[in-house]
Amino acid sequence: MAQQEDVFKKIVSHAKEYGFVFQSSEIYDGLAAVYDYGQNGVELKNNIKRYWWDAMTLLHENIVGIDSAIFMHPTIWKASGHVDAFNDPLIDNRDSKKRYRADVLIEEAIAKIDDKINKEVAKARKRFGEAFDEAMFCETNPRVQEHIKHREALHQRFSDAMNANDLDELKQIIIDEEIVCPISGTRNWTDVRQFNLMFKTEMGSTADGAMTVYLRPETAQGIFVNYLNVQKTGRMRLPFGIAQIGKAFRNEIVARQFIFRMREFEQMEMQFFVRPGEELKWFEFWKQTRLRWHKALGLGDDKYRYHDHEKLAHYANAATDIEFEMPFGFKEVEGIHSRTNFDLSQHEKFSGKKIQYFDPELNESYVPYVIETSIGVDRMFLSVLCSSYEEQQLEGGESRVVLHLPDALAPVKCAVLPLVRKDGLPEKAREIVNDLKFDFATHYDEKDSIGKRYRRQDAIGTPYCITVDHQTLEDNTVTLRHRDSMEQERVAIADLHKIIHGRVSLNSLLRKLS
Ligand code: ATP
Repeated sequence: MAQQEDVFKKIVSHAKEYGFVFQSSEIYDGLAAVYDYGQNGVELKNNIKRYWWDAMTLLHENIVGIDSAIFMHPTIWKASGHVDAFNDPLIDNRDSKKRYRADVLIEEAIAKIDDKINKEVAKARKRFGEAFDEAMFCETNPRVQEHIKHREALHQRFSDAMNANDLDELKQIIIDEEIVCPISGTRNWTDVRQFNLMFKTEMGSTADGAMTVYLRPETAQGIFVNYLNVQKTGRMRLPFGIAQIGKAFRNEIVARQFIFRMREFEQMEMQFFVRPGEELKWFEFWKQTRLRWHKALGLGDDKYRYHDHEKLAHYANAATDIEFEMPFGFKEVEGIHSRTNFDLSQHEKFSGKKIQYFDPELNESYVPYVIETSIGVDRMFLSVLCSSYEEQQLEGGESRVVLHLPDALAPVKCAVLPLVRKDGLPEKAREIVNDLKFDFATHYDEKDSIGKRYRRQDAIGTPYCITVDHQTLEDNTVTLRHRDSMEQERVAIADLHKIIHGRVSLNSLLRKLS
């Protein structure tokens, strides 16, 4: 685990060193949990968004996109339940003045008990060797039994308190479990309070006339409130979907793990409107479809798993997360939810406008049901970055850091490198750039030795390096170096376009999906 943490630290500094992600406002010592994307990061991020957008809107003729405003009428957040219930329970330690999520403190205490059980099991396995029967050991070992009982009781008490929204009980659990502040080491806790995660601001020119508005905590509501507009103007028939990519804001209490949990982030959401009663069939469809989208990137099939929700939000009748194995464990990257007709009905109620679909086949009107797929762009970015990063030992004691990015997502597709800075090679290289640049993000680099230039491109994940040498002037061929294998082949300049296009275009990735 410690080793994984080291790798993660290296990935974070690599992301900065090579222009992928910077701390926001860094020269002012930064702003917590807010990040900026640099010259390479923005390209990678845009490519991820394009992959998602095209997979939704080009491959499904019944899905269209919108781009709704971040500011919305405040009543929308009343209707959606965010004003009343988009809360996390927070607690402060009076000595360290540090703030924590009470639920996370308790979850960590449960994880510690799990660790104790795992340690006992590992010890016993070592002692008994081949003959070890884990189930039998856990059932009979008194120490392990005690831990298991403790864990189960604590888990039950915790989920009861969460379900009942019982803040006093959450605090009592923290006291009874003797949970201490990791900074001060004391148990000097305040009461637990609910903390609403929405950012508020004022709209209007004078203080008196100003109206409180929120920065949207999800993009989905912009889709729900435009359901009628799109359905009517697009003459859409059920089932159909609306997709949107945009910023969302959450005043997260504890934000850590780099761009995994941010206060300003970006979501890619799609709401799929279906006939009531058909939602579970479509839930299954989107569950499979979304996982296929992830796996087509080739980051490793074993890095994904579903996490089905046991406890469902009151309006949901099925929910699952697609989790990805980050260096800090399997974590949610995308949520797929069957949200019934909750949101549209709420907007019907709060706006007083009828939001219904007339189904010509059934000859009746109803409020459609919704399946939602919701993925964080930044978490997706992090999963791509983490799984692509490799420190490689090469022959002859050399090493390199390489990002094995999926070719279609790489910020730079090819780099054109004159072997030396004379004899007309730079001019020839420029000619090639001037031809390729219309279709591919192409770099030109003539500084430093060719080896150093290759390393620089490896570090940002450029799939192809094209080297122009003296032979090029004679026969119009170049060497094409492949990032992952480092193999080089001699190819005609005239063939470059076709070869590169076949490997790096989004088109070939999208074709895997249909
Ligand atoms: P978590 O349990 O991790 O807080 P969530 O269940 O609240 O996430 P959703 O409301 O389902 O998340 O949001 C959908 C997606 O938006 C998540 O799967 C995640 O990829 C992304 N997301 C949510 N909150 C953040 C955040 N603070 N920073 C970055 N991405 C986020």
